[in-house]
Amino acid sequence: MPLVTMRQILEEAAKGGYGVGAFNVNNMEQIQAIMRAAEELDAPVIIQASRGALKYSDLIYLKKLMEAAVERHPDVKVALHLDHGNSPQTCKQAIDLGFSSVMMDGSLMADGKSVASYEYNIEVTAEVVEMAHKHGVSVEGELGCLGGIEDGHGAGIAIDDDSHLTDPVQAVEFVQKTGIDCLALAIGTSHGAYKTMRYDKDGKALPPRLALDRIETIEKNLEEAGYKAFPLVMHGSSSVPAELVEEVNKYGGQMKKAMGVPMEDIQFGIKRGVRKINVDTDGRIAMTAAVRKVLWTAPEKFDPRDWLKPAREALYELIKGKMKDFGQAGHGHEYQPISMADMAKKYASEAAATK
Ligand SMILES: [Zn+2]
Repeated sequence: MPLVTMRQILEEAAKGGYGVGAFNVNNMEQIQAIMRAAEELDAPVIIQASRGALKYSDLIYLKKLMEAAVERHPDVKVALHLDHGNSPQTCKQAIDLGFSSVMMDGSLMADGKSVASYEYNIEVTAEVVEMAHKHGVSVEGELGCLGGIEDGHGAGIAIDDDSHLTDPVQAVEFVQKTGIDCLALAIGTSHGAYKTMRYDKDGKALPPRLALDRIETIEKNLEEAGYKAFPLVMHGSSSVPAELVEEVNKYGGQMKKAMGVPMEDIQFGIKRGVRKINVDTDGRIAMTAAVRKVLWTAPEKFDPRDWLKPAREALYELIKGKMKDFGQAGHGHEYQPISMADMAKKYASEAAATK
């Protein structure tokens, strides 16, 4: 499957000074929506699957759907990434399936819930890097713990608990000791739609408090240690648009008032070294709003295509907007893909050079 590696996509993004959306998928309609948006906008893109998605799609369906995506859109620079791998075994499974990138989230133990020690995190992440780089596969690591729980993954840390944020000094050592290709930061974002339960006096949801200054400090520290323009990753970066939540509720939904990460905060991060931006929740809400509208306004309908098509369309529109806002649109044609075999050689020569 001729996928592009995440390392190449993020290196190019660093050169161009833009961010790349990493969008979660579980089924055909989501993959089609993202690939269509990427092709039309000439945008490099990262498609990611969580452990939950792999289970839902019984592994093989997702693999084959991605093969179809690449065949249907041969010019799109797309990486297939494992989101929140919980163990080296899970990462190996994804590599064997043909993923071009994996995340080893060693900030949590293999149960995906208990907070892990720093030493454990280094050990499992370095193990995955050694295994993945032999195949030319990129690796994302995470330092510090994100808030919230999604798909059963997460320690459920309260949003205002600063003790789990990424330590800017430790970040450099972590990158040095593990050899990862990009680093996921804990700066106060969290997974899911309800990132904060903060409201103003009129009951309006307030955005999460983010430690945005850490992005700049971490990037600067890495640069001083010789890691120029090291790619950083923002998780839990859905903006939870109020109009989509309203649309869901207008057609019988019962979502609570919520507010995600404002686009200005994400763009602030992109200017300071954030290259991968994970978005899942916004796509879920967009699709649910579209499905609800059909079933609510036309209750006589019973053909799944009558609601899957609008859901796919809604996701496509949402993704197009994100691609423009993150800046990835228009950059796909700028480079030629490096094969995973060539990337493996590159890693080997880099490793030899540092010995
Ligand atoms: Zn995440």
